[in-house]
Amino acid sequence: MNIVIAGFGVAGATAADIARQQNPKAYITLFSKEKDLFYYRPRLPEVVSGAAEPDKVLVHPAEWYAERRIEVRLGESLAEVNVQEKIIRGSIGSRQTYDRLLLAVGAESNRPAYPGDRLDGIYAVRSLSDAWSLSLAARGKSRAVLIGGGLLGLELAVALGKQGLAVTVLERGERILPRQTTPASAELLRTKLAALGLNFELGAEADRFEGNGKVETVVLKDGRDLPADLVLISAGIKPNLALAAGLNLKTDRAIVVDEFLETSQPDIYAAGDCVQFPGEAGGLWTVSRAQALVAGFNIAVASRAERKAYAPVPPASTLKVAGIDLVAAGDLDPDGRLTGIEAASENSYRKVALDAEGRLVGFTNLGHSKGNRELNAALAAKKILSPEAVKGLASLDYDFSSF
Ligand SMILES: Cc1cc2nc3c(=O)[nH]c(=O)nc-3n(C[C@H](O)[C@H](O)[C@H](O)COP(=O)(O)OP(=O)(O)OC[C@H]3O[C@@H](n4cnc5c(N)ncnc54)[C@H](O)[C@@H]3O)c2cc1C
Repeated sequence: MNIVIAGFGVAGATAADIARQQNPKAYITLFSKEKDLFYYRPRLPEVVSGAAEPDKVLVHPAEWYAERRIEVRLGESLAEVNVQEKIIRGSIGSRQTYDRLLLAVGAESNRPAYPGDRLDGIYAVRSLSDAWSLSLAARGKSRAVLIGGGLLGLELAVALGKQGLAVTVLERGERILPRQTTPASAELLRTKLAALGLNFELGAEADRFEGNGKVETVVLKDGRDLPADLVLISAGIKPNLALAAGLNLKTDRAIVVDEFLETSQPDIYAAGDCVQFPGEAGGLWTVSRAQALVAGFNIAVASRAERKAYAPVPPASTLKVAGIDLVAAGDLDPDGRLTGIEAASENSYRKVALDAEGRLVGFTNLGHSKGNRELNAALAAKKILSPEAVKGLASLDYDFSSF
């Protein structure tokens, strides 16, 4: 059997590993647009801060793939697929047949257009080479502006702060991390990040960039000027849909798949950030990996009857900044439509949201990690909380051994 995988992020690499375990005889070829071996994308802020050299974030050495007979074509994109004849073509000339094809082509940084965005000194970080370029550019600089206050943007802002830059974060909304906070936790988080040297401009939007060859000023929509030696844009992701469009696959925001992670074209599967699965937020390592465990199995089994169905993973977001524990999962009900149980102290916060039947539908912990495991499990199991638990959760000291 010939298995072809496009993309060498967590989805492609995990699927190749699982496919090999499932099918020792298959030929497995993996096309990778990037030139680096599979690396931990969530560790890119460490590369930006200078805490890790690029080779320290690689997941496996080259031999690991060779031992598993996974042929990796670094720096060669999957360029074309002939669905009728089941032949693919790589961007530097490879041509081969496939029996099963997996699209694990991920996503790219979303780059909204601004006047002046062709100036030097404007960055977005998605790949290891982006992170390394930013890390080098930041050396010796003193002021940065971050556009977009999402989880990833904040981690990168803290990383630039570690290089000694003063970072101003522009957030269009009224609070930071609107999807991962409630009004109360956003305020506590802002205080914690300000203590690490980040300056926040809420309700502020960039209008344009100005400078002589390189960026020097971010002009805000309200007319204010912010001086900047460099600008980092973190405005979400855009799934890579070019291949899917060429294949006439069904797409919406991303590639549409069925419960087996098969696309609208038989024998072509998809997993990771390029996929949209009902009820699941994309853009997460954990979700991409969980999908790849199933897709990797399904592309390697002999018959369609052996395939496994994918069960969506409740998305949990974590802010990876030392000294700030933030986990947010499910519906945090920031507008108070549901039943919310909040508990707070000066440095810590918890909120648990329940639906009308008393079922746990979301939670967040900030400034502590107590109950993360138990609450995550209860969220995945859609557990109805006991009256004792509901009462106990009103205190941060609640003992989860009886949860
Ligand atoms: C800085 C950063 C920090 C993050 N932190 C977290 C975190 O803490 N927790 C979390 O859950 N998630 C985090 N994420 C998100 C997480 O990394 C992604 O959800 C995950 O990497 C998606 O994996 P993927 O394999 O689907 O796609 P990707 O990692 O995007 O990999 C897809 C690969 O396919 C390549 N490709 C594209 N087109 C082709 C083609 N035609 N042929 C061959 N190759 C192609 C791309 O260049 C890319 O290398 C973070 C992301 C970033 C950028």
